[in-house]
Amino acid sequence: MKSARITGPNEPLAVSESETPKPQGNQVLVRVKSVGVCHSDLHLWEGGYDLGDGQFMKVTDRGVKYPVIPGHEIVGSVEGIGDDVSGIKTGDEVLVFPWIGCGECPACKVGDENLCDTPKSMGVFQDGGYSDYALIPHFKYLAKLDGVDPDSATSLACSGLTAYNAVKKANSNSPEFLLIIGAGGLGLMAIQIAKAITKAKIICIDNDDKRFDTAKKMGADFVVNTNVVGSLSSGTGSPIQKIISICNGKGPDSVIDFVNAPQTVKVALGVLRKRGNLVLVGLFGGSLEISLVSIPLKSIMIQGAYTGNYTDMVELLDLAREGVINPVISKHYSLDQANNALEDLKARKIIGRAVINP
Ligand code: NAD
Ligand code: ZN
Repeated sequence: MKSARITGPNEPLAVSESETPKPQGNQVLVRVKSVGVCHSDLHLWEGGYDLGDGQFMKVTDRGVKYPVIPGHEIVGSVEGIGDDVSGIKTGDEVLVFPWIGCGECPACKVGDENLCDTPKSMGVFQDGGYSDYALIPHFKYLAKLDGVDPDSATSLACSGLTAYNAVKKANSNSPEFLLIIGAGGLGLMAIQIAKAITKAKIICIDNDDKRFDTAKKMGADFVVNTNVVGSLSSGTGSPIQKIISICNGKGPDSVIDFVNAPQTVKVALGVLRKRGNLVLVGLFGGSLEISLVSIPLKSIMIQGAYTGNYTDMVELLDLAREGVINPVISKHYSLDQANNALEDLKARKIIGRAVINP
């Protein structure tokens, strides 16, 4: 099989041939048709996350071993199955649930393998889908497409799944106004999902105007660019003031931050209304000092969201099949162009999602 591997931080991906694995027991061999290019692949390629104050969290300290085949949004057709596989046959078109856990810890026991204590996620801790074949450890991690377009379906394993989980958390206080920060792969999915499953009016902010046409098409009721001088001040005409005035002078009831860097979280905390709910999703990182008294006085909630579970993914596939959500796939690359795909994502040349079609 032919695969693109990350061999070390910021090294060009190495495209090479290796022996195609033979599925045993519960394993399934999938011929990859399409794999999404996620910003998390970029963090993996860069070697880690910015913790702020000059600190960097290396992915190798979290258990990643290079070389690794990235790619966790995997769609393909079943090429071969192990002897113990049931319910899946050769030729089936499938979406892979990549957030594989240990099966033993408290999270795994209640079906939240995405929150496992010792995760074995595909495309992170074990080989993923930047390859013409992917070996799936167990057939239970597959869901049949049953008519959903393969390129669109890729998004449902990560960007859609994470957005779905975050929107559900943000919807827990039935927001009248929901602010979505970052109109990239995840943010655009969140706008569509929020339109479908909440009653909120949606405000979307980004620091790049090129994102707003698509954000509006997906259902954003208001867009605000935060890339202006004084964006962090709360003075008249500042983005903070604009957002608060859109929300009848009170601020949004919920905010989802798909960037999660000091600049964006400052805006989030600056606009969040009393009893508000802030969901942090992005991994851009950094650190921030927050004024502690305002948290109890405003009685706000700050929480994280990390991907989603298998049941969420199946629910999302249903929403895609009904046409309620339509992931935005704007660029296609070959496996040989895997480096270009990551570079274009880094240079912010991609609207919505790009996919690699091996
Ligand atoms: P993307 O590159 O497609 O989109 C990022 C968007 O944020 C772009 O529209 C960009 O213009 C905007 N942006 C960047 N910096 C900004 C700033 N300072 N102010 C305003 N807007 C800004 O990325 P993506 O694939 O949507 O992923 C977003 C983040 O979420 C990444 O850090 C990714 O690793 C992370 N992620 C988290 C999870 C999770 O489970 N928590 C899952 C997948 C991805
Ligand atoms: Zn992802």
